[in-house]
Amino acid sequence: ASAASLALTLSACGQNSEGGSEEKGGDTKGATIGIAMPTKSSERWIADGNNVKKDLESKGYKTQLVYGEDDPDQQVSQIENLITQGVKALIIAAIDNKTMNSVLQQAKDADIPVISYDRLILGTENVDYYASFDNEKVGELQGTYIVEKLGLKDGSKKGPFNIELFAGSNDDNNTRYFFQGAMNVLQPYIDKKQLVVKSGQTELNQVTTLRWDGGTAQKRMDDILTGSYRSDRVDAVLSPYDGISIGILSALKSDSYGTKSKPLPIVTGQDAEVASVKSIIADQQSMTVYKDTRELAKVASNMVDAVLNDKKPEVNDTKTYDNGSKVVPAYLLTPVSVDKTNYKETVVDSGYIKESDLN
Ligand code: BGC
Repeated sequence: ASAASLALTLSACGQNSEGGSEEKGGDTKGATIGIAMPTKSSERWIADGNNVKKDLESKGYKTQLVYGEDDPDQQVSQIENLITQGVKALIIAAIDNKTMNSVLQQAKDADIPVISYDRLILGTENVDYYASFDNEKVGELQGTYIVEKLGLKDGSKKGPFNIELFAGSNDDNNTRYFFQGAMNVLQPYIDKKQLVVKSGQTELNQVTTLRWDGGTAQKRMDDILTGSYRSDRVDAVLSPYDGISIGILSALKSDSYGTKSKPLPIVTGQDAEVASVKSIIADQQSMTVYKDTRELAKVASNMVDAVLNDKKPEVNDTKTYDNGSKVVPAYLLTPVSVDKTNYKETVVDSGYIKESDLN
């Protein structure tokens, strides 16, 4: 048997293939799958692209992997190209979740199934499945870390503490889930005035960060420090993503935070990017949320394989992710809170990050 057909046979015995051992032949064998990722500016998407590619290739598929460089129009035309080239399925991590309607209609017309990867695509029926993490839980982990570390959760401290809030890109559907999850935890303390947002910016539309850009977040943190903290200190910053956290930390350090008399606030994050895990080890960023994107890649690849073989992909959530046109059946993985105390047993021991990359 060729390597490809061996891989296909093996994958037919894989965990998500519903136990079927029948090998689907026909026109999906050796088919090309289009993978559209948002940007190479963040480590996780580079890894996501490579992992999905590898997983699909090990199942005997060919792949076309494209990156949209955070430009929604570019991503849409890349997907149009993939459709023209005759891909048999699409895996898409959208840049702007609302710009996909017409291109996904083209996919539908060409009978191409679509997996929404990590970020839910909104406003169209033409999304078959959603592979992601429990996004609200991500925010809950960030919020919980803050109230625990401030001593509010166990009541050992009463505050008030000053906090500032940052959210992700407003065109990414995950943003509101992350923020909602965090606010579920933080809002009761804000209501009791144990947490105070001195900038007054508490609504999601006041705190988003277009395209998750660290520089944009740095500028906003600079402005907040100048506007609201001349005679006071910020004790915690809710940050949704490591790249944003690094920007926030730069603003804080330029304002001479990070000394004994003016310690850095608690700063959260997400993705366990190398720079941020290093920052955590160096007592700068406080935590991150580790999402094993290798597992996500497997889920998405298994979904494609199942759909193309007329099987039902494994899902574990059929009610949360309403995209405005339908509730998209989803498989959600579990995010993990990581700080200096557990980074070794989480991101290093699992091989997600090499210890040597952290030196
Ligand atoms: C992902 C996060 C990531 C962010 C910025 C979100 O859609 O879920 O893991 O931090 O995009 O790339």
